[in-house]
Amino acid sequence: MRAVPAPTVIAISNQKGGEGKTTTAVNLAASIAAAEHRVLLIDMDPQGNASSSVGYPNGVAEQGTYDLLMGLAGPSEVVQSTELPMLDVVPSSMDLAGAEVELVEVERRESVLARSLPALLEHREYEYVLLDCPPSLGLLTINALVASTSVLIPMQAKYFSLEGLGALNNTIEAVREAFNPGLSVEGIVFCMFDNRTNLARQVVQEVGEHFEGLVYDTRIPVNIRLSESPSHGKPALLYDIESKGAQAYLALAREVLARREGQAEESTRP
Ligand code: ADP
Ligand code: MG
Repeated sequence: MRAVPAPTVIAISNQKGGEGKTTTAVNLAASIAAAEHRVLLIDMDPQGNASSSVGYPNGVAEQGTYDLLMGLAGPSEVVQSTELPMLDVVPSSMDLAGAEVELVEVERRESVLARSLPALLEHREYEYVLLDCPPSLGLLTINALVASTSVLIPMQAKYFSLEGLGALNNTIEAVREAFNPGLSVEGIVFCMFDNRTNLARQVVQEVGEHFEGLVYDTRIPVNIRLSESPSHGKPALLYDIESKGAQAYLALAREVLARREGQAEESTRP
């Protein structure tokens, strides 16, 4: 039997709302899947925007993230297929908001997702698991960070976005200390980027100095197709592959995969 390599579990996180988390989770997941890697997207946000962006608006799937975390359903019930053969999703709906409260009573409540992952990974041999996190620091985000190998941070090149980044960095440090010492920063991607402003360039420079080597060269421009495609239940590459938005996420996926391959080579070098 072929040994199954450990999958890369990436939390797409930023405590600030509206920075591009969901757009990045959906379109990066789709772009990695389009590059022929098996991807599972788990919607950890009760708003369910990632789910509707791949064809599962609130309530369409009977079971999802809530049922998974509460132990009410197994992988074959919560994993749903999408239009892309290499991309599956565990969708969420409003009921997931209840999990934030109900998890408080659960033993080892921070690692409920981490404990559910092996069964999902046995279900289908995913190479990448992407977690779309909510814009808050509750138990859902903590569960995502505890279950992950790394955090990918989407952010805007704006002044208040720097504060959000600082707060997230403190959270990552706290999660490392308490639960998940191996948690790394996968990378930082600038979303809704407009290179024409001085402020944007300054923010990019400042973040680059603090997080050396972690800022992706690929920047996601403001692109109307990225905001339209969710209402069609499609990632941008299935809605308009020629669009600047779809192309930017394909480029980001190539960068993420190239970094990963570079790391794999380093670790096998004698
Ligand atoms: P978050 O998940 O961090 O709250 P979203 O990905 O939902 O952020 O993005 C917030 C809003 O901005 C959404 O309406 C989304 O469609 C829009 N948006 C995100 N990225 C882009 C982009 N590059 N171009 C245009 N609109 C975008
Ligand atoms: Mg979101």
